[in-house]
Amino acid sequence: MLNVPGAKYVWISGKIVEWENASIHVSSSAFLYGAGVFEGIRAYKSSNGNELNVFQLDGHVKRLFESGKAHRMYPSFTEKEIVEVCVNLLSDHKFKEDSYLRPLIYPGDHLQLLGGVPPGEICVFTFPFLSRNEKVQNGVKLGVSAWRKIPGDALPPRIKTCGNYVNSRLARSQMKTAGFDDALMLTKGGTISEGTGSNLFIVKNGALVTPDVTSDILEGITRNSIIEFAQNDLGLTVQERKVARSELFACDEAFQCGTVAEIMPVNSVDHINIGDGKPGEITRKLQEYFFKIVRGEISKYRHWLTPVYGKK
Ligand code: PMP
Repeated sequence: MLNVPGAKYVWISGKIVEWENASIHVSSSAFLYGAGVFEGIRAYKSSNGNELNVFQLDGHVKRLFESGKAHRMYPSFTEKEIVEVCVNLLSDHKFKEDSYLRPLIYPGDHLQLLGGVPPGEICVFTFPFLSRNEKVQNGVKLGVSAWRKIPGDALPPRIKTCGNYVNSRLARSQMKTAGFDDALMLTKGGTISEGTGSNLFIVKNGALVTPDVTSDILEGITRNSIIEFAQNDLGLTVQERKVARSELFACDEAFQCGTVAEIMPVNSVDHINIGDGKPGEITRKLQEYFFKIVRGEISKYRHWLTPVYGKK
């Protein structure tokens, strides 16, 4: 049994199942074919220490249901009900620290290649999960993987299917074995796509540039949040377009972003420094603002936070 400190129970299609007993049969199509869809969501303690808030909960649950729809999996719960389940789960666990939520929709049948036509099963679990301070502070070194990102006309990265991450695992294991922190992945056409579990931005002459939604990316909620506050609050211009691999070597800064990655500076790619090989000034500004938002300090973005407890 996998011991995850702090995790007590899993919510499975309306039932509360003890963590130890939340198993799935080996003949399940979810296991055999990787046919589930999922989300990773963070809850942050507020700066004043009194609140726990989920970041962009509605957006994540919306994307979960969109992913389910693409696979014709329709759970017998509404988005609103799942939002409530997530909040209740966190509140029941009484976490006093940053934590993580993992909801999944998966086919409820066994051995069949096409399953989950309706209803899909749905489960949610949670555990404490701190912000990744060290890498966020110091940055990471990436290598461009020889494995290309799965093309959108075969297995669309925009749909957050469990099986997509087999492609990410191939790339990450290749580059970790080669001594990098993680992989950066290219599209079949050779332009930059994204990381194994994050989106990429580069900074050039003060402007942010990120691969567009047709670059075989998951349209990250962190990415979209950054695009919004960078333009509206920090006065930065943002270009969403195809990004050539060679642009990495002529840019000033680069960073990865995502629920787990948060905003993570990229110091080098293929052992070639980005800028001077240290986290850049604009990356630092974005990080600072991002952490103020998620920790409840910027009132105009309070609507991105769903309170679990502590909100006056
Ligand atoms: N791309 C991939 C492949 C991911 O797994 C993630 C993490 N969910 C992201 C991008 C970033 O998405 P988000 O900001 O919504 O977490």
